[in-house]
Amino acid sequence: MRIFSIFYKKIKNKVEWLGNYFKSYILSRFLKHSAILVYHRVANVSHDSLQLCVSPQNFRKQIIYLKENFNLIPLSQMVNNLKSHKIKEGAVAVTFDDGYADNLYTALPILEELNAPATIFITTGNIDSQEDFYWDKNTAKEDRGKPMTAEEIKKISSSPLIEIGAHTVNHPNLRKINTKEQVDEIMQSKIMLEKILDKKISGFAYPFGSRRSFSKETVSEVKKSGFNFACANTQEQVYSFSNLFSIPRILVRDWDIETFKKGLKWR
Ligand SMILES: [Zn+2]
Repeated sequence: MRIFSIFYKKIKNKVEWLGNYFKSYILSRFLKHSAILVYHRVANVSHDSLQLCVSPQNFRKQIIYLKENFNLIPLSQMVNNLKSHKIKEGAVAVTFDDGYADNLYTALPILEELNAPATIFITTGNIDSQEDFYWDKNTAKEDRGKPMTAEEIKKISSSPLIEIGAHTVNHPNLRKINTKEQVDEIMQSKIMLEKILDKKISGFAYPFGSRRSFSKETVSEVKKSGFNFACANTQEQVYSFSNLFSIPRILVRDWDIETFKKGLKWR
């Protein structure tokens, strides 16, 4: 029975995957679509088991490729297009999750050189403590990225190319914690960033971001907390019917341009 159940599960996953593959293919062939990319770190490290780093060399090439082949726009503009259900063909927005200091020291100079906008979703729990992010605990010390300090967040946010959004306090799987804990995680990250930057924070990104990492209840709490939109991480393009509170994004790895081109296409 167990073997049968494993077999059934495998077939079911394959069928689901094929279904999504064809859905994405058909949609992207016939409907206008944009894309939002997710990065984490821009850094050269010796070991990157979590695949969070894109080397500065690859990052620079990727941004140049986007500038030459797409319409690279700020996320806020993409959100406005989505609100009015007018998604533009070939528009791309760049985002970063977590709030690593290399976003300021390595990514920003490249973005400035190429005049490319980006949005950074910050996990606020490590700003004051300056402890490493918990998911980096098995990464060698020299390969770990530091969380940005409040001063660094102010500095990166002062660039006209940069928008800031919230990404909870402790980066939990929001689906797995109770309502009160979800509200705290969502609200407190917003409050802290608004205090540091003295401006309204209107965008949120779910930690992890897959459909298994947030629920209907999470979406409703994000809305109630005063956010105007929320990004997921579901490896799909953005269409005019995409949900404003689970906007799909596509995860970028340390890809050369050939792989990057494939990664940008429908999945
Ligand atoms: Zn994250």
